[in-house]
Amino acid sequence: MLWSAAGLDAALLPRDVAGTLALPLHSSVREGAIDVTRRAEMGIALAPQAWRNQLPPERRGAAFAALPYAQPEALELEAGALSAGAAADYADAVLDAQLAAGATLATTPAHVFEREGGIGRANDLLLASATIAAWHERQGWRPPPQRPDDPPRELYATIAVRARHLPEAVPELLARYSALPVDGFWLVLLDDDATRTSPRVAEAITTLALGLQAAPAPGGFSGAASAGIGGAGGGFGAAASAGGGFGAAASAGGGFGAAAGAGGRPVVVAGAGAWHAALLASGVAATCAGADGAQPTFPPDAAGSDGVVGIGVPVFHPAILGSAPHGAAGEEAREWLFAAHPCRCGEHLAYEPPRGRRATLRHNLACLAAEARDATRLAPLLDETRLAARVERANATRARLALPPLPPAWSAVAATARDLRTAAAAPGLSAGA
Ligand SMILES: [Zn+2]
Repeated sequence: MLWSAAGLDAALLPRDVAGTLALPLHSSVREGAIDVTRRAEMGIALAPQAWRNQLPPERRGAAFAALPYAQPEALELEAGALSAGAAADYADAVLDAQLAAGATLATTPAHVFEREGGIGRANDLLLASATIAAWHERQGWRPPPQRPDDPPRELYATIAVRARHLPEAVPELLARYSALPVDGFWLVLLDDDATRTSPRVAEAITTLALGLQAAPAPGGFSGAASAGIGGAGGGFGAAASAGGGFGAAASAGGGFGAAAGAGGRPVVVAGAGAWHAALLASGVAATCAGADGAQPTFPPDAAGSDGVVGIGVPVFHPAILGSAPHGAAGEEAREWLFAAHPCRCGEHLAYEPPRGRRATLRHNLACLAAEARDATRLAPLLDETRLAARVERANATRARLALPPLPPAWSAVAATARDLRTAAAAPGLSAGA
């Protein structure tokens, strides 16, 4: 589905911004994604989406049911503590499924909770620790025997959090997860669109992501980072669609400054939606973006459960930093946008909107790559300033088309990042931060 439906091939993925392709583990076989990424010499993350186990089996999607860690009944994690044995079995199954399917970046199982700071979160942390133990037992970082020259594999801790639990949950999540000996963090924001675009959610995600990146790795940690990859050095590339749609990308060669410090570990943010570009500009190492993978929901909507995307694909346009008006009613606006601001992605006539699913997906992918590149050109302060100017121009253009202004999340990210940098530059004042 990922490649064939979209007619994309891996050669289209811009390697300077996308080092890793991500997609749900349960759809990886069908899509032949492993072969695609291997040919392109990209990494691949196969998101286990363990939270689907919290739904009754009939609501998880048919492909998920075939996975070895699919539970016979809805998994209840907020009622009581998992036993160490049960946690180890579940963690083993989730990790083994990812490694067997060919993941080069493995992630810990994560679940979605009605409240934070309770037994549910404690269970997820226990599962993360059990996965780390399994990773060491298997020497998971070693490339598979048939490809000994591959770079070491990495393990990231997944943190799934509901936007509505932010910002209150941030201090505990930061403290508990930064203590885990992992190579990086996979932060998944789940909620409805109105909640996920609020400025307080943007502030909280920025604080959590940059906080995790700045936190020193625990002492004695001997993961891949200490072997010289995946750490705060340059060259980390990541991310892409966690949902069902076409996969895409974004990361940060240049924007990594905020993870400074020898112990810095990268954070991938999934679920931020369109304002993920603001996170990249402010120094978050990578974001997960794609047709619908950028905005996961829980429970997953019907269309997303098997990775099937709707018929109409919205057309992104950089002049409005978002999707052009859809459907027949938006035709005139789309025509005007492309006539006034031609697109030279090469997938369609520059002065006309892309037409049809294939051209639209390829145009969107080219735009996504361009946005990620633009957001990570220099140091965060300069990238944030350039993006702020673009947001202002985009809002003027949006007003002209009677579109609502961009959500305040776009500017909240940079404001928060600036405060964090100021605090970090004055260590005497930030002892508690
Ligand atoms: Zn284009």
